[in-house]
Amino acid sequence: MKIFLLIISVLSMLNLSAQTPGKMKSAELSKGIFLHSTGDVNLVSLSGPDGTFLVDAGWDYEAPALKTNFDSLKTEQPKYIVSTHWHLDHVFGNKAFTDAFIIAHVNTKKYVSADQTLFTETIKALPLEAQPNMTIKDTVTLYLNGETIKIIPIPGGHTGTDMLVYFEKANILHVGDLIFADMFPFVDVNHGGNVLKARERIKEILNTFPKTVRIIPGHGRELSVSDLSSYIMMYDATIKLVKEQKQKGKTMKEIQDMKVLKDFAKWEKGFGCDQWIEYIYLSL
Ligand SMILES: [Zn+2]
Repeated sequence: MKIFLLIISVLSMLNLSAQTPGKMKSAELSKGIFLHSTGDVNLVSLSGPDGTFLVDAGWDYEAPALKTNFDSLKTEQPKYIVSTHWHLDHVFGNKAFTDAFIIAHVNTKKYVSADQTLFTETIKALPLEAQPNMTIKDTVTLYLNGETIKIIPIPGGHTGTDMLVYFEKANILHVGDLIFADMFPFVDVNHGGNVLKARERIKEILNTFPKTVRIIPGHGRELSVSDLSSYIMMYDATIKLVKEQKQKGKTMKEIQDMKVLKDFAKWEKGFGCDQWIEYIYLSL
């Protein structure tokens, strides 16, 4: 069921059209920290006396369900929002929380303040009130509700706008879409993303955070450090296969036709091998 929902999520991203959201579930990850999801984007909140802090506002059509869940949890609506990157399924929800103070990477502001093209579709600029109130390029630490929250820019992997959000005491790390659980990721090479850089960023996470860190990806199940190690192995093996052929002068189409990634079909849960070859080829 989960895998099915994940495929729907990626397809909805590809279609870029409004979907009817499933029921939004809210699960407590740690005291005051909740994971909210309709089975699509993973949104994480921390509530308490300093106000509600939210990582990603999700799709605009999910926002009413999110608001209802905050009401049921008897927590305030978000006072602070961090956007992990510029993609519409992570920032369109900002439109429903215009009272919130929105923090994002400086390049997110750049992308959401003008129309963009994604999967050949035009993504409309966000209205000014849904755009970031604060842009950052370096790590920012917030002390809210007894928690230490580190907002860490790591651009260049999934997009040129990526940021991690680390709840230090709870040891919970939201990695945005740098990692898609158990599947080939989408790499937005037209907006600053790069497969090799993404690999480097995942390595940095492995080297920086405690081995016990709980990792929440933008889509899919919670991950552990050992899941990240498997992810890196997939990166290494697939990059090697595509690189070998590119160095021999093969075109992207020829490499796709050779089915060099046929042994990696288990990762084809949203994006297929041909798509992943394209992202690697364009990133090399
Ligand atoms: Zn994304």
